[in-house]
Amino acid sequence: MNELVTQLNQYADAYYRLDSPLISDAEYDKLYRDLVELETAHPDLVLPNSPSHRVGGKVLEGFSKYQHQYPLYSLQDAFSFEELGAFDRRVRKEFPNVTYICELKIDGLSISLTYEAGHLVVGATRGDGSIGENITENLKRVQDIPLTLPEPLDITVRGECYMPKASFGRVNQIRQEAGEVEFANPRNAAAGTLRQLDTRIVAKRGLATFLYQEASPTEADRQSHVLEKLTKLGFVTNQDYYLADTMEDVWQFIEDLAGRREALPYEIDGVVIKVNNLAIQEELGFTVKAPRWAIAYKFPAEEKEAEILSVDWTVGRTGVVTPTANLTPIQLAGTTVSRATLHNVDYIAEKDIRLHDTVIVYKAGDIIPAVLSVVAAKRKQQEPMDIPTVCPSCGSSLLHYEDEVALRCINPLCPAQLKSKLEHFASRDAMNIAGLGSSIVEKLFSANLVQDVADIYRLSVEELLTLEGFKEKSATKLYQAIQASKENSAERLLVGLGIRHVGSKASKVLLETFRTIPRLAEASLEEIAALDGVGTVIAQSLTTYFSSEGAKTLVAELEASGVTLSYLGQVAAADALLAGMTIVLTGKLERLKRSEAKAKLESLGAHVTGSVSKKTDLVVAGSDAGSKLAKAQDLGIEVRDEAWLESL
Ligand code: AMP
Ligand code: ZN
Repeated sequence: MNELVTQLNQYADAYYRLDSPLISDAEYDKLYRDLVELETAHPDLVLPNSPSHRVGGKVLEGFSKYQHQYPLYSLQDAFSFEELGAFDRRVRKEFPNVTYICELKIDGLSISLTYEAGHLVVGATRGDGSIGENITENLKRVQDIPLTLPEPLDITVRGECYMPKASFGRVNQIRQEAGEVEFANPRNAAAGTLRQLDTRIVAKRGLATFLYQEASPTEADRQSHVLEKLTKLGFVTNQDYYLADTMEDVWQFIEDLAGRREALPYEIDGVVIKVNNLAIQEELGFTVKAPRWAIAYKFPAEEKEAEILSVDWTVGRTGVVTPTANLTPIQLAGTTVSRATLHNVDYIAEKDIRLHDTVIVYKAGDIIPAVLSVVAAKRKQQEPMDIPTVCPSCGSSLLHYEDEVALRCINPLCPAQLKSKLEHFASRDAMNIAGLGSSIVEKLFSANLVQDVADIYRLSVEELLTLEGFKEKSATKLYQAIQASKENSAERLLVGLGIRHVGSKASKVLLETFRTIPRLAEASLEEIAALDGVGTVIAQSLTTYFSSEGAKTLVAELEASGVTLSYLGQVAAADALLAGMTIVLTGKLERLKRSEAKAKLESLGAHVTGSVSKKTDLVVAGSDAGSKLAKAQDLGIEVRDEAWLESL
């Protein structure tokens, strides 16, 4: 068995990773069958790295949540050379001699792989960056992910799982023949595949990976060395990277790449530019959203002409009425587009967009397609577009405030608004109530079972059973999902309340500090605005929201139903040594790794940020500390050293 496993793994590696098969498929199959025969006869001796783990079928019940030990980050975007230049200047202000590594931005899904003693123990999706889904069984079916490493390492690596163009073509061909809906693009196909409960399907879909990051503390001192190390460990890394000394070099790489993008066997949506030196990366640190040491250049939007067939007006969560054009279908950036946003009434007026106009439609990154302009020469209709005067949902008069570009329905009981509030409340980033999507919300409203979000916690299984299409099992499942959401940490509830400008990141920061929603509701504008990454716009929006009677009643009702109003995430107790302090680390530490130092400070209640400002309480400076230390001294901020940190 040992021999067969070693041989088969070597053949598979040559086939999938090195793209140079050593034996024929038939010979491989023969050896594989020999192995399976032995494994069937001796099931307790099946080796952990046996290739049979990759094919055996399992039907999963669902995916469990997985708390990432090291959070996953997103990237700042740039769409032009100017934006890249601005990024470069910011970096060079502190590190004049910095050099960059340019990596292809693979259009797939981030994955995180954790190995213990060299064995793959967890494979997870990114999720919101701190909690993802455990999809280990599916990732084991991705042929180029090693199940075991050549050394017994404890390591967490990150990368992108994607569907090669060839697999995508094949998968869609099969779907078309079977009369199934085809995937819109390889990215959706990869995402859909990784969420399959039947692992056999995953094994057949031909997914592949590129790994690019060691998330656990690394010995490497350059990003390029990380790629080398990952390659040595048997991961597939993308060798199409480029080391650049200047932004001009970077730009050259991008232009060259744009020319050969079509010919690549996988889809990319841009280039990720990273500071190559990892010590400088650590120095630069992170904003609330993304690393300061990297930027993603996204290829420019694609544009095409289409005809506007009709326009839908829909009422959103805040009463804003949004026009969407139905178009003659076009192919845009690899997907079929038949709808595009017209933004708002002012936009329609400004661009003079009319029904049956031929318009230019464009798409950039993940943004929904939008109408850019009218092709005047192709105009058929003489009349300006009909603009609704009453709400398409409740019929009340629409308002067009002078300082707003949109039409608004201000009826607080407007069903369309209430429905989309509820949908938002249940959505993934908010309370994450599985099964409470738009069609169920629609049914609950039609049956008069709910009017606002507080009502969903009063629903019984019996009531759910009265809804069309619900059986004992589905009703119980939804009921349980609703009950389970009561245990969510309160930042989800805060997102779910749908307060303007208050998204996941801000909610987390707010509750880490204020701990409970009632306490946040009582906080002053100044207290809120003083938080790192929050600011006055969010603070204003929050205080306005919580001063309304409606909000107070809603929170009280939710509390009465047993919904958690406090933050359950890890924050040191209020009496922790450094509770509430904002600390900046700078310079080179001799004994502690930067990540360890940060973890230690955080475990003692401190909030560790990347830049020194008036909000900083303390700076911990190692050797060779530069501008941050100088700034701290300027501002009269207390400075400590590594020995102090160790003594804590
Ligand atoms: P965005 O989703 O546009 O914020 O871009 C961030 C995502 O780019 C990450 O979460 C990764 O999934 C993805 N990505 C693709 N290729 C790379 C790469 N070479 N380095 C870093 N991120 C990458
Ligand atoms: Zn309305």
